[in-house]
Amino acid sequence: MVAALIRRTPGTLASAVRLHRAAAAAPARFLSTHVTNAACEDNEPGFLGSVEHFYDRAADISGVSSKSLTGIKAVDSVLSVKFPVEIDPETHVIIEGYRAQHSRHRLPTKGGIRFSDEVDLQEVEALASLMTYKCAVVDVPFGGAKGGVKINPKKFTPAQLERITRRFTLELCQKNFIGPGIDVPAPDVGTGPREMSWIMDTYRQFNPQDVNAAGCVTGKPISQGGVRGRNEATGLGVYYGVREFLQFPEVQKMTGLDGEIAGKTVIVQGFGNVGYWAAKFFENNGAKIIGIGEHDVSAYDPNGLDIEAIFKHRAEKGTFRGFGNAEMLEDPIKIMERECDILIPAALERQIGLKNVKNIKAKIIGEAANGPITPAAHDYLVAQGKVVIPDLLLNAGGVTVSYFEWLKNLSHVRFGRMSRKWEEAGKSKLLTLVEQNAGRQLTPQERRAVIHGAEEHELVYSGLEDTMIGACEETRATAALKKTDFRTAALVNAIQKIATVTEQSGKMFI
Ligand code: NAD
Repeated sequence: MVAALIRRTPGTLASAVRLHRAAAAAPARFLSTHVTNAACEDNEPGFLGSVEHFYDRAADISGVSSKSLTGIKAVDSVLSVKFPVEIDPETHVIIEGYRAQHSRHRLPTKGGIRFSDEVDLQEVEALASLMTYKCAVVDVPFGGAKGGVKINPKKFTPAQLERITRRFTLELCQKNFIGPGIDVPAPDVGTGPREMSWIMDTYRQFNPQDVNAAGCVTGKPISQGGVRGRNEATGLGVYYGVREFLQFPEVQKMTGLDGEIAGKTVIVQGFGNVGYWAAKFFENNGAKIIGIGEHDVSAYDPNGLDIEAIFKHRAEKGTFRGFGNAEMLEDPIKIMERECDILIPAALERQIGLKNVKNIKAKIIGEAANGPITPAAHDYLVAQGKVVIPDLLLNAGGVTVSYFEWLKNLSHVRFGRMSRKWEEAGKSKLLTLVEQNAGRQLTPQERRAVIHGAEEHELVYSGLEDTMIGACEETRATAALKKTDFRTAALVNAIQKIATVTEQSGKMFI
């Protein structure tokens, strides 16, 4: 076994809604190995370069001292491991894995684990940095982290994937890179609730005394301490965020759109966890999903695609091909160039670059994926008067609800369990008084509608909605104050919040 642990010293720059049963029970999700540079010119920066570019621009106008800015930008710690896994009695393969903790100004650090054969250290560091800024934007009190295992999960059986996941978790345990107060992974591309269960179970084997062991990872199945609403959280947050932006008068002026979701045309690229749920929430609220992009083919129908029907079709046939009257685009990335009001890239990074940005016709581009737009493409879109709602704000619903799951695990009680009946009894008494004064009895249905105490998923949705409304409003206010775009504004807010925490904590070792 080869395992390398690199600790970087601070300051060293390293480079209304139903749960869909099939999606809820879905095992790992997969990222195609489709190139992430089909849309980009050779001279455009990679993912980490893009994150750093956006950071530098926001840092310049943040008003934060250069000393703090240098510290915030640096990736704190990187774990790089190689370990053998038995594929069959005759064969072992060596697997590469990474975990980057970008900032420990707040603990634990938090971020997904990705299974993809495109994983590399640069990507993991970029995603870890983005996690720090994202947590700050939505006031989730965590530092940022990210992990990756360099495999194509489609090439392994569930039993092999379990061995790989458990072996990687063992490395994390041995190197102190996991724990409810240290670093808490979550699902990302290529992983899901199943992998999170394996991670928690492995952590528990090595830490039997840790009563908070369930909080070592989020995105778990409900039976393993997961929280209701986590599965759809990122897509729901995307919907809430776009809905909020549509209501801002300046956005309406820039786009010529009214403030309603109903009637808007939407195209979604990527029909995995985030894309499926985002599409579902837009559809449920009256929008028309006219295009969905996937790695092999994209489906387009100007009359609107039925999300549940196309989901079922793809689940059965493995492709959109043959679905109803939809037009099939054999060059799938071209779906993003079709006319629409709202474009939601929800697949992977670097999907809009200098090669295709001039063809983008959407008025609002909501970044559900991490890093889907390169810096040059972003600036072009903004110069064209288009509204780009940035990833660190728009897809923060996942980490927000992960935070709720972690709180649930530390408190060892389901949200609402202690208060639901008490609230219902209080409201019932109040209604009786109202009925007496009004001289009329409410119908049983009217009564039920008013006294209904919140279920866990309703509390989660409400906490998420409140979080997204607050973060969108803060971003908008800073954009107006600094006369800048929404991405820079969100980053300015993040940088200022992180700087406040680090500066007010004192300087013990530097
Ligand atoms: P996923 O694996 O469930 O879905 C990704 C989908 O994109 C898959 O259906 C895949 O087939 C498709 N895809 C892959 N390559 C493509 C291509 N070239 N063109 C079109 N489609 C392609 O992953 P996910 O969890 O939905 O994550 C999607 C994005 O959202 C990633 O950037 C991820 O980092 C980001 N994100 C996810 C979460 C979360 O909670 N899952 C939270 C925040 C951000």
